[in-house]
Amino acid sequence: MYQTLIVRYGEISLKGKNRYKFEDSLVRNIRYALHELAHGRIRKAFGRIYVDIQHDNWGTIVQRLSTVFGITSISPVLHCSLTMEAIEQSTLTLMEQSQGKTFKVSTKRANKRFPIDSMTVSRELGAHVLNHFPQLTVDVHHPDINLQIELRDNGAYLFNSTIPGSGGMPVGSSNKGLLLLSGGIDSPVAGYLTMKRGVTLEGLHFYSYPFTNERSKDKVIELTRILAGYAAQGKLKLWVAYFTEIQKALEKNPYSGLKITLMRRMMLRIAHTLAEREGALALITGDSLGQVASQTMESISTINAVTNMPIFRPLISMDKQEIIDIARRIQTYETSILPHEDCCTVFVPKNPATRPRLEQALEAESHLDIPGLVEEAISRTESLIVSHKIDFL
Ligand code: ATP
Ligand code: MG
Repeated sequence: MYQTLIVRYGEISLKGKNRYKFEDSLVRNIRYALHELAHGRIRKAFGRIYVDIQHDNWGTIVQRLSTVFGITSISPVLHCSLTMEAIEQSTLTLMEQSQGKTFKVSTKRANKRFPIDSMTVSRELGAHVLNHFPQLTVDVHHPDINLQIELRDNGAYLFNSTIPGSGGMPVGSSNKGLLLLSGGIDSPVAGYLTMKRGVTLEGLHFYSYPFTNERSKDKVIELTRILAGYAAQGKLKLWVAYFTEIQKALEKNPYSGLKITLMRRMMLRIAHTLAEREGALALITGDSLGQVASQTMESISTINAVTNMPIFRPLISMDKQEIIDIARRIQTYETSILPHEDCCTVFVPKNPATRPRLEQALEAESHLDIPGLVEEAISRTESLIVSHKIDFL
């Protein structure tokens, strides 16, 4: 029945050059997400994007668009010519498909050349609906069916539903960030939320073969594959850093309670070096304040001290359940809970320090060749390009 989708977007603060960048990225990402479904049938007009529907497959298109950041809402619409007869006809078609006992008609007359004012259009269409559907009544406050009409230069658009989009900014409209991606629940969610603000992501995973096996790496690749479904071209770059030598070196330090602190400091140093080399402007982690020993304020502060690069921690204030809810929604949860070991779980000390001080960390590291270890890990880091996989319902 529907011919077109109206795709709404935009943050109020967007102006001038930023607006074009935002719109260009969004159209490009929509084109990619829909490639074979709506090729060449995407156009920008009146501050919206219109996607023409070919085979009544609007449900599938809406699902695909749910992975595209920058969209605030979507309405499937009927499109007709700017005459009262055509609008009345489309109104009946739409009402036949609508469920409910009460309704309301609202009209927006963007095209001021249309000779009838919006109040009159609404009133006449309301009367027309009541004539054909005598069982319905009007309720202007809480209608079951909210019939909306937009009168524009190229015709009238009619719709009765508005589906929320993912919000945020189109991926590619901001700079690049490097996500420290473990196989857990949190870091994929942190990556998703960062992409939501337009950031182009690359992943970095620390891998400790033979302490962790190939399958734990496969799990991270699988998580990257799911996250890639939200990326601009359906692809993400994943760096896999060989962390084993560093872990062996850290094993020798006598302050066993500091092991996680030292490990995280090494991770950040490597991430910083790689990010600088790759032109990424920020690091991203899945830290949530107080969740584990390495996420107390003291730990975060001591760990953070190795880099002056901004670190984004989008989950910092979230409870585990809130994070899990997002993980389920974005389809990373089922993969994250697969029981494969991470390099940190293998080496976790019995009593990790919850208040590691910077001087203690510096003292523990004073015997290590830090630049040499970082250099060695970077030189053994490999990258792969991972293509998307999102299961649509
Ligand atoms: P997650 O569920 O993301 O693993 P977590 O609650 O288990 O988080 P930690 O294991 O302490 O917390 O890790 C905190 C953050 O450090 C992770 O969110 C991730 O950003 C980073 N991190 C931990 N382990 C790795 C790893 N092996 N490779 C890359 N990043 C890691
Ligand atoms: Mg973890």
